[in-house]
Amino acid sequence: MAGPKYRSPRGTADILPEEQPYWRFVLETAGTMAELYGYRRIDVPLFESADLYIRGVGEATDIVQKEMYIFADRGGDRMALRPEFTAGVCRAYLQHGMAHWPQPVKLWTAGPVFRYDRPQRGRYRQFHQFNYEAIGELDPWLDAEVIDLAWRFYGRLGLKDLTLELNSIGDGKCRPAYREALRAYYRPLVDRLCPDCRARLERNPLRLLDCKEPTCWALAEAAPRSVDYLCDECREHFAGVQDWLGRYGVPYRLNHRLVRGLDYYTKTVFEIQPPRQGAQAALGGGGRYDGLIEELGGKPTPGVGFATGIERVILELKEQGVALPDRKVPMVFVAYTGEATRLAAAEVVGRVRAAGLIGVHAFGSRSLKAQLRLADGLGADYAVILGEEEYRQGQVVLRDLASGRQETITLEAALNRIRS
Ligand code: AMP
Repeated sequence: MAGPKYRSPRGTADILPEEQPYWRFVLETAGTMAELYGYRRIDVPLFESADLYIRGVGEATDIVQKEMYIFADRGGDRMALRPEFTAGVCRAYLQHGMAHWPQPVKLWTAGPVFRYDRPQRGRYRQFHQFNYEAIGELDPWLDAEVIDLAWRFYGRLGLKDLTLELNSIGDGKCRPAYREALRAYYRPLVDRLCPDCRARLERNPLRLLDCKEPTCWALAEAAPRSVDYLCDECREHFAGVQDWLGRYGVPYRLNHRLVRGLDYYTKTVFEIQPPRQGAQAALGGGGRYDGLIEELGGKPTPGVGFATGIERVILELKEQGVALPDRKVPMVFVAYTGEATRLAAAEVVGRVRAAGLIGVHAFGSRSLKAQLRLADGLGADYAVILGEEEYRQGQVVLRDLASGRQETITLEAALNRIRS
């Protein structure tokens, strides 16, 4: 049999009803945690001027080089679907004069992002992130607070055995020397690098450190380490972050190969890894981006943020068998037994819903047996059966569909019984 003519595009997915409880759980937890740390929600457009991301994320990054969905709109402007949130949020910070708000401005957001990536498990072309961004403060305490928030978010979801990896990649003052040291280290080894790394060596040598190709991986082990090239300011900042993390009681592991794939990061970078590591496995990550706002045309303004991929978090929740909080609203199926009660069913189902219960029924005109089969298929918890005679006397039959037990009582009493 031929399949359907249209399918969702490669790298995208329908989020079916049975998946939605996971999404709600993750997003509600993200929102609750955001509030507890003083973050307020912002939403930015799904697409912006492509130039914003090219400047923000960086010309030399994989995202800009090969993953952005770029299109000319009908007016001829070059737009891009957002490949991440930080550039858009920083654009909003500038556009709305948030530099005049109390600093740091703490914002969070969530929604789909788009990258023309090679789809595989945990890697899609349309995926969903939520982000925390704190803009306008240099204090390493803030880096640690963002990391603490990220760490406790996963903890609150019930995920276990995660690893927090931490590094500092310096800033505009000290990174050039480090990049040069990396190039000097890799140039004699260039024949052993994978084609991607060979191409990246001159324009983006930091990325060679996290290449997953076995030979590149092995070569990176002995490569110069960014922490050995930090200027005094960056070294002090990094020590401060670790100090504050200790105060928050957040465990971390230094990872000298952690560099992140976006150009805007300065100083602190971090990632959260699930227990079984594989290529592209990071659940989430982030870092400081002190140069980004200036790059976008604003006054020099520091910032730090964190993003997590919601699909990956859900995969991990399933992998770890985390049970979702049970918040089931009882479902009540209203069944009729004849024409008069069929006509009365709309009012009864309305009262069920007004009582805060899920009210469903069969359409058309079906036998009681067919209706109860439908109730079963829908997963209803109770049936309220409207018998012609009982209904005239103000009574209904309440059947508990799990136990099969039933009683004849008033609708009012039935609704109270179900709610209690
Ligand atoms: P990044 O914006 O690259 O720092 O990614 C932040 C997080 O988004 C990652 O840790 C993943 O959880 C998630 N992520 C990144 N790329 C993808 C993708 N192609 N598909 C699904 N999740 C992704």
